[in-house]
Amino acid sequence: MSKKYLIVGGVAGGASAAARLRRLGEEDEIIMFEKGPDVSFSNCCLPYHLSGQIKNAEDLILMNPAIFKGQYNIDARVNSEVMSIDRSAKEIEVKNILSGETYRESYDKLILSPGARAIVPPIPGIEKVNVFTVKNVVDIDKLNKFIKDVKPSRITVIGGGFIGIEVMENLIEAGHQVSLVEALPQVLNQFDDDMVQILHKEIMDNGVELVVGDRVTAFDTNKVILDSGKEITSEVIVMSIGIKPETGLAEQAGLELGKTGAIKVDSNFRTSDLDIYAVGDAIEVYNSLTQDKFILALAGPALKQARAVADHIHGKAIHNTGYIGSSVVKVFGFNAAATGLNEKALADLNIDYDFVQIIPKDKVGIMPDAEDLGFKLIFEKPTGRVLGAQAIGRGNVDKRTDVVATAIKFGADVNSLRDLELCYAPPFGTGKDAINYSGYVASNLLHGAFKQVSMAEVRDLVENDAYILDVREMGEYEAGHIRNARVIPLSVLRDRYEEIPRDVPVYIHCRSGQRSYNAVLMLQAKGYDKVFNISGGFKGTCAYEYFNDKTTDREPIVTQYDLK
Ligand code: FAD
Repeated sequence: MSKKYLIVGGVAGGASAAARLRRLGEEDEIIMFEKGPDVSFSNCCLPYHLSGQIKNAEDLILMNPAIFKGQYNIDARVNSEVMSIDRSAKEIEVKNILSGETYRESYDKLILSPGARAIVPPIPGIEKVNVFTVKNVVDIDKLNKFIKDVKPSRITVIGGGFIGIEVMENLIEAGHQVSLVEALPQVLNQFDDDMVQILHKEIMDNGVELVVGDRVTAFDTNKVILDSGKEITSEVIVMSIGIKPETGLAEQAGLELGKTGAIKVDSNFRTSDLDIYAVGDAIEVYNSLTQDKFILALAGPALKQARAVADHIHGKAIHNTGYIGSSVVKVFGFNAAATGLNEKALADLNIDYDFVQIIPKDKVGIMPDAEDLGFKLIFEKPTGRVLGAQAIGRGNVDKRTDVVATAIKFGADVNSLRDLELCYAPPFGTGKDAINYSGYVASNLLHGAFKQVSMAEVRDLVENDAYILDVREMGEYEAGHIRNARVIPLSVLRDRYEEIPRDVPVYIHCRSGQRSYNAVLMLQAKGYDKVFNISGGFKGTCAYEYFNDKTTDREPIVTQYDLK
């Protein structure tokens, strides 16, 4: 017998569920309700309309109700807001936003994919500025037209998450003056502080006024006022400080919410009412690394959950392995990807871990387009289980991060990364890829082959006059070095190692950490037991220090930066 399925929300999760339901049941009645005027648009491409990369706002819309009807026999109703759910009657109440008319519709199964809303806090004076959010085609069209009409002298983006960053970049590409304000000390919280600094530099180098560690406390006419007292004159404000799961309907219907405030679902994405499913940004999901619930507002998970729900409705087993969170973002000339847990997340968890930080080339070094690849691998101690990775570079970072994401999903440890057989030819990578290389280093750390300190610790070492040894060649040292560092190039270290004291810790670096690793092993073989490799080397240290050196009045710890 045919069934009747209703879906709330007509974009990522909603449209995906509808299409899969049709594929599994030709005779069923499927109605999808969307309160906005468009279904199935690309949220992820919205910012690219601001730069004109996506010329027409209509091009953001992938499907319309006529295509849904013609190709899938799905009744996609736009401008139709689902106002309430009557669980005992298994009916919903729908309001036609254009006519004001309301009506009821019954269901056998109901799927909620209402997404999340952009947070706009009631900051004093907010009515005195032109505030925009970026959630749908109407929003971006409105923002784009307003900018074109007003020709603002400056636009301020508030919030340095991936949406804020993409909006900022596209506004710069459109030729605007842009400020980005982030309350945390860094943008893009999926990266650790030691990885993200190179992106801060890139943002600054592209002409953005980047303010981190300062929050908006008030607005005045065309003015953003920050906690520090700083004021930014701006005729347009884009608010991208985060999202809140759209739980109003679920709450009205008495469905259970979880500890995060999002809709609680079981492993089959059923809510506390077994005839109502929920997916996407509105739900909380199981994090297989932390073994706890979290909100993961990304398109891929929403689409896959929607498909899983349709499968479950049709009696197919779904295998929910939980989530780890994988994302990638472009920041001007850099690409930045992250998966799994970072050190910030681990700080609150009772998991013992260590990490590897390397800067290999992403292709064979003599290839003209070879670039540095900043790569960080985080793993559990003592098991070596892979917990997370972050990759930032001008070349291919998502491939590396995707491999690690796959490895995490399969429960791999660092030895498996070491042994992975990955594609190689000079235009694509290196014979021993960054991933293999990070597996070697991690495995060496686990076996106690050497000890390391991170680039984030170098400033303390300099300020405490620690013994820092630079093993680069003299020309490299003279072009720029860490203050107080002694230099003995690796090429002469075997002849001169006795100049190095044995009774104090010795912190060794080269440009990226590889030559210094060799120096550490050599000194250990000569009986030194207090030698540490500075992971990321001089280059990593320069990248880590640069932005804060330039934006605060502290004294640099390097004589010249190496940021090539
Ligand atoms: P949505 O796709 O947001 O759909 C929810 C829909 O439900 C909305 O259109 C809403 O109007 C409708 N709705 C809500 N309540 C009702 C109601 N009561 N009645 C009827 N309709 C209702 N993710 C990535 O993985 N990569 C990216 O690069 C990326 N970029 C993004 C860029 C931007 C600017 C934005 C806003 C998001 C981006 N995302 C990205 C996130 C991704 O788009 C979301 O995670 C995904 O769309 C969530 O799917 P969803 O179905 O839960 O919600």
